[in-house]
Amino acid sequence: MSVDRKTAELHGRAIVVDGHNDLPWRLRAEFGSRLEDFDVARRHDDGHTDIPRLREGGVDVQFFAAFVPSDYVDRGAARVALEQIDLIRRLVARYAELELALDVGDVRRSVAAGKIAVLIGVEGGHTIEGSLDMLRRYRELGVRYLTLTHISSTEWADSATDEAINGGLSPFGEDVIREMNRLGMLVDISHVSDETMADVLRVSSAPVIASHSGARAVNGHARNIPDDVLRDVARNGGVVMVNFFSGFVVPEAAELVRDMFAVGREMRAQYGGDERAMEKAWRTWFAGLGVPRGNVADVVDHIEHIIDVAGVDHVGLGSDFDGISLTPEGLEDVSRFPAITEELLGRGYSAEEILKILGENLLRVLAAADEMAHR
Ligand SMILES: [Zn+2]
Repeated sequence: MSVDRKTAELHGRAIVVDGHNDLPWRLRAEFGSRLEDFDVARRHDDGHTDIPRLREGGVDVQFFAAFVPSDYVDRGAARVALEQIDLIRRLVARYAELELALDVGDVRRSVAAGKIAVLIGVEGGHTIEGSLDMLRRYRELGVRYLTLTHISSTEWADSATDEAINGGLSPFGEDVIREMNRLGMLVDISHVSDETMADVLRVSSAPVIASHSGARAVNGHARNIPDDVLRDVARNGGVVMVNFFSGFVVPEAAELVRDMFAVGREMRAQYGGDERAMEKAWRTWFAGLGVPRGNVADVVDHIEHIIDVAGVDHVGLGSDFDGISLTPEGLEDVSRFPAITEELLGRGYSAEEILKILGENLLRVLAAADEMAHR
């Protein structure tokens, strides 16, 4: 995309980190996980992500989600998580421009060598199937964060978009957090209920992340983070990485998409494992809502609010590209990240502040988690 020279210079110099991208689930659902059927090295007109567009967007560090839908809870959630981790690792092995990064040292080496550093996050705590052994297995495979829930509550952590089962974390859920701290795996509070967020921030000795969530004071959806939690994340040293989904970004959209996850849950039950049919039905339903797209300024409003409440050290970017059904104007795909930098410069943020927002904050958190794990 074309931006002014000052933006291009700063964005090019930054280590740009995106906290959440769902390309792996797209590859599974649409292409049966056959990498030969979707060439990531070629530029595509559909979807949000491929290597040429990541390059154009100046994305240096991409977290890919090993996402597993909540309804796999009693039918092989761990197996699907392992398959998605394997898919990400196969993707990295296939393309020389991608490199798996296990820590901040790897990230800086990969970026210095002109590669895109890939990190893995598992989305949905049901994937550990109630077993700390499984958590340790994921860590051995290079997983750097676990999102504690997806759209449904698990037996040990409540989701923001389901009935509360535990009133936050169960005692086992607290053990999961402590084990993650010990392993140096980041705790991701996106998708969890306010009570779960509070419990995590009470229990976790390491800084936490929200890999793809905005500010609830700007858009009132339950998926966004309330101000009191933003203040606690600041005290904890963590980072909230802002989601680009119009439904969680544009203030008026919150009410329109309030029941989105409940409808999605019903549709998943209705269509069973037919991902394509489910996707089609979902898109038709979603289009009928008339959700306003918003634009880059709306996304930066979330960043700015988090800075006002928590400080510039506690905000980042977690687009959720290829996992979202509507994007703001000017943020159509991964090639558009420079638009964020342009808007931040336009609002008077300094280069130092912008470098933190674009990636350095997340790298600080990752390094801190490793340092605490080594102790
Ligand atoms: Zn998600």
